[in-house]
Amino acid sequence: MAQGTLFIVSAPSGAGKTSLVRELIESLDGIQVSVSHTTRPRREGEVDGVNYHFVDVAAFEAMIARGDFFEHARVFDNYYGTSRRAVEDLLAAGQDVILEIDWQGARQAREQLPEAVSIFILPPSREELERRLAGRGTDEHAVVASRMREAVSEMSHFDEYDYLVINDDFTTALRELQSLVIARRLSGERMRERHGPLLAALLSGEAGVE
Ligand code: GDP
Ligand code: ADP
Ligand code: 5GP
Repeated sequence: MAQGTLFIVSAPSGAGKTSLVRELIESLDGIQVSVSHTTRPRREGEVDGVNYHFVDVAAFEAMIARGDFFEHARVFDNYYGTSRRAVEDLLAAGQDVILEIDWQGARQAREQLPEAVSIFILPPSREELERRLAGRGTDEHAVVASRMREAVSEMSHFDEYDYLVINDDFTTALRELQSLVIARRLSGERMRERHGPLLAALLSGEAGVE
């Protein structure tokens, strides 16, 4: 079975990565989003095990000590991390996997899997980013203000990524993300794994018409 591709998606909070990734995995087969562990409080409407695995600091630190994380980082004073088992099992089963993680985690993920494809999502303007963060209505005013301050430092890492998508018109940004996944599936390094029997049949010398 061909190994799946790891896609790393980062963006400042509020740029729209969760909405885009949700639509992306609904629109394509064979791709899943990895559910992270976090110590941040659960937002209204979030479901444990679906949006995140919500754990306390002691449980998170025990997982770090056991080496359970593929990558982990502190973001906005909370811990966030991707469990190694979840990612490696899915990739081994041939699934493409998306990590929605910050730039620190992206660096760790690239070090471990250099063939991963990384994508940075930017908002069309600062004003629009603030509007989306506040408009989402899930965070308190002080949290929105601190996320806006963090946004500039997150965005300064855009050039460590393979691709940049601007989430101005949602449908356009979604189409660009779909294109990146599809292009990767058609790429040279994948074709031998995916189409081995077809290539063997087409290229075998038998029954050729000279
Ligand atoms: P949102 O991005 O505004 O929806 O807020 P979240 O609290 O869900 O995420 C805050 C930040 O943590 C974002 O930059 C995420 O990319 C990052 N994050 C989420 N999960 C992980 C993870 O498993 N590992 C790392 N390193 N960062 C994560
Ligand atoms: P993130 O996961 O990056 O923090 P979300 O996916 O939660 O961002 O999006 C933040 C808010 O912006 C949500 O309310 C979402 O519906 C909205 N949003 C996302 N993309 C767009 C877009 N292209 N135009 C307008 N609003 C958007
Ligand atoms: P849902 O699937 O719940 O309708 O959409 C998920 C989130 O993505 C919603 O919060 C919605 O605002 C956002 N979203 C999805 N499509 C669009 C779009 O075309 N434009 C905007 N502005 N937001 C969108």
